[in-house]
Amino acid sequence: MLELKNVSVAYGSIRALRGIDMVVQPGKITAVLGANGAGKSSLLRAIAGIAPVTEGDLLYRNASLKPYPAHRRARMGISLAMEGRRLFRHMAVEENLLLAWSFGPRRTPFAQAVRSVYDAFPILGERRTTKAGMLSGGQQQMLILSSVTIREPELMLLDEPSLGLAPIIVSQIFDFITAYAKARGTAVLLAEQMAVMALRVADHGYVLRGGQVVMHGASDELVKADIVSKLSAAYL
Ligand code: ATP
Repeated sequence: MLELKNVSVAYGSIRALRGIDMVVQPGKITAVLGANGAGKSSLLRAIAGIAPVTEGDLLYRNASLKPYPAHRRARMGISLAMEGRRLFRHMAVEENLLLAWSFGPRRTPFAQAVRSVYDAFPILGERRTTKAGMLSGGQQQMLILSSVTIREPELMLLDEPSLGLAPIIVSQIFDFITAYAKARGTAVLLAEQMAVMALRVADHGYVLRGGQVVMHGASDELVKADIVSKLSAAYL
């Protein structure tokens, strides 16, 4: 589905990523782990087309993404949920969903698409006329995630969906991501500082440090690695 070959990202003289090789498969969850500043967001943003790739190539369904700007990549089924709860805070829940849906391929009529969102997260249905900015942190994260899935992506890029949320909400959100990816065959790239939690749902993962991949492998192997337990310990 997606293959990164020797990808580097730099913001002027600041090199955020160096020589990244990575494979992301359909129906699988790939975790990108690393501390603050390791380069996780830059990686997701490079794939979405909003961070400057200075070297290497990104192949999506065997063709280079480099000629395509962000909005074309979105139309090609690549959907990014940025860190930090980016929502239209003054718009109602359902208006946020309508806007997100309108940026997608619109294969499913909105009424049906929004119904599946409310089936997955009934609280969003109950609060459909509430302004997004008035929702709790967990509800906002549910809305962000739903704004991604309502675009029917083939590749979901999720930047720290657990940030600032209670563990119970995190597991609810991670369960949703897993069920969604498996049912639809969607590829998921999940950037997380909460390494152990992410590896619980991921099939495999990559550990970034200083903009480079320092380790990768199957989740059950990675979870035993020292570097991963140290990462998680930092957030306990
Ligand atoms: P975080 O969890 O804080 O988002 P991260 O692992 O996602 O961390 P990035 O945000 O990708 O890491 O940052 C990687 C490096 O690139 C850091 O040194 C950061 O300061 C730098 N960086 C990120 N965005 C920019 C930017 N727009 N301009 C300049 N430097 C940047």
